[in-house]
Amino acid sequence: MRCYRLLLLLWSLLLVLSGCDAASASEMRSAEFFAMDTVMSVRAYASDDAVLSELPALVGELENELSTTKEGSAVYALNHDGHAAMTDDAALLLSRALALCGETGGALDISVYPVVRAWGFTSADGSYRVPGSDDLAALLQSVDYTRVSLKDGTAYLPEGMEIDLGAVAKGYAGDKIAAYLRERGVTSALLDLGGNVQTVGKKPDGSDWRVAVQDPNGDGLLGVLTVSDQAVITSGGYERYFIDETGTLWWHIMDPRSGYPARNGLVSVTVVGDEGLYCDALSTALFVMGTEDAVAFWRAHRDFEMLLVTEEGELLLTSALAERFSPSEGLAYSIEVIDDA
Ligand code: AMP
Ligand code: MG
Repeated sequence: MRCYRLLLLLWSLLLVLSGCDAASASEMRSAEFFAMDTVMSVRAYASDDAVLSELPALVGELENELSTTKEGSAVYALNHDGHAAMTDDAALLLSRALALCGETGGALDISVYPVVRAWGFTSADGSYRVPGSDDLAALLQSVDYTRVSLKDGTAYLPEGMEIDLGAVAKGYAGDKIAAYLRERGVTSALLDLGGNVQTVGKKPDGSDWRVAVQDPNGDGLLGVLTVSDQAVITSGGYERYFIDETGTLWWHIMDPRSGYPARNGLVSVTVVGDEGLYCDALSTALFVMGTEDAVAFWRAHRDFEMLLVTEEGELLLTSALAERFSPSEGLAYSIEVIDDA
């Protein structure tokens, strides 16, 4: 009996010691770097800095494959030559993006790039302009994702067409970073890729991550969402826009049917789900669809959650998300839970 007690004591001691050891070895480490036109910050609970120090190169490599403006990228070559060999990442992202263009009925259309450029949203210098309606009508002739093809790792584009994976690239980058961290044994991390948030596991104390959602009509916050192992991705008119000389505000998310910035009743869309790429594609597409079609899309799929902010100052949430959302104090929006039926 005494021997048994002694063993038990030794065993408990061992557990305490190993717990102390793990706690001292791992701590929250952070990295911040600029890539894909945005500041990316990563916080990970890890035992050394090495795991984070490789992230800028990982994302930089991805950017060099996917960028529309960097000479030598697979997408740049495709846009300029009409055909190009895709890298593994570019081929995977292109094929997923094309499938999502189809699933969203063309609300997401990666071939809208010439239109985006005509509005000046591709230039870093902010030379925005409202294109003439004739110019837009001509450009729309070459907006049609169904004419983009990918065969045996080579992509093809008809004359005059160009693509841009900007609506999905950051979500995909988040998935890549999260997978990389998990492979290296990280079980707790928070990535913020310019407002696109992705989480790995829970916080080290076992509670969910708290992710702030920005108010599209100001500098404040709509509230906080609690999530773990999921992506929280927002598309909002406030992210990039200009005001023309008549006082009209135009933002960077285009309606591929009209060639004009999408004005279908929404000012921001936040999508929560397991995969960053899917959430990124949907945040853009649902923004284009507008409230009614976005709700119909959610009802038909139900493999993501969403928070919509309308031009009328309403905040619409799917019911599962409502349970995880704490609105900011004194929030001047009416909150409505989307009917599950
Ligand atoms: P996001 O911030 O993820 O909503 O992506 C917006 C970016 O995707 C824009 O800056 C454009 O480069 C591009 N874009 C705009 N409208 C669309 C659209 N309807 N389909 C695909 N890409 C788009
Ligand atoms: Mg997007």
